[in-house]
Amino acid sequence: MYCKNCGNEINQNAVVCIHCGCAVEQQKPATEAQKTNVLGIIGFVLAFIVPLAGLICSIIGYKRADRDYNGNCKGLALAGTIISAISLAISVAVAIWGIASWIVLWTTITAPLY
Ligand SMILES: [Zn+2]
Repeated sequence: MYCKNCGNEINQNAVVCIHCGCAVEQQKPATEAQKTNVLGIIGFVLAFIVPLAGLICSIIGYKRADRDYNGNCKGLALAGTIISAISLAISVAVAIWGIASWIVLWTTITAPLY
């Protein structure tokens, strides 16, 4: 490996550069560099089960994808966000439609009483 400060070749396990005395940054293992964006995956799965929870997890997972996970699962988190949003919109629409139908039905049944 080479020193980042002076560019001279130094020992792989060196902690301090023998040429300039600068502290050498230890290279992180490849496995640690690419962490799995768990929240993005959870958000995507939850999108199909609990849309609201899926939406929250996906948004957080998407925001963290670039910052903490080197872009890992960014697409999945984005897909989870979209699916959750659509599911939530459908749920809300169905709920409103259900309440509206119930009010119409209720007023129809009770109407003759007035
Ligand atoms: Zn050096």
